[in-house]
Amino acid sequence: MVQINTAPAVHPGFTEKNRIITGGEIQYMPYPDGPELHMLKRAVSIIEHNIYRKNVACSRYFKSLSKDNPLSFDDVWEDKDVWINLDPRPSANFDGFNANDHPKDITIAARSFRRNVWFVVSVIVHELAHVAGAPSEWKSDAAERSLLHCGLRAFYHPSEQRTAMSESPPPAADSETVTA
Ligand SMILES: [Zn+2]
Repeated sequence: MVQINTAPAVHPGFTEKNRIITGGEIQYMPYPDGPELHMLKRAVSIIEHNIYRKNVACSRYFKSLSKDNPLSFDDVWEDKDVWINLDPRPSANFDGFNANDHPKDITIAARSFRRNVWFVVSVIVHELAHVAGAPSEWKSDAAERSLLHCGLRAFYHPSEQRTAMSESPPPAADSETVTA
């Protein structure tokens, strides 16, 4: 199963640079005991009761995201190397992210927890779609479209996707490579 990062000794936190994000970086940190962890556990429970092994359309859509290594939603959810981290900064101006150098790490930003638990569910599903192979937002809306197939249509925001889910624009010539 996917793992929640609560133990830095097991899964150390890390950051990745991203020029369009407030503060210039994205953080993948362990969850301290607190309201974010509490809401995340509720979101995980919702996924386990409503999506995992239940939503055939969702799993089928996930399999379409990669030609080389098709993974169903259930395959991704069962992968113990997938980690859900936290970006705890109140000012972080995005909802979630999938790391570049650690392709099985996702992070949920603090502002997502200020919405509600179903919103957190939608961010997790969106980011797991990237883990399954959905390209970054500036190439494709495939990750956001997973919400249409996974029972989360109310949270689908195609026009806001670049800011709401906040994958970066094409990297500038000089470097800090950033994709979703
Ligand atoms: Zn995305």
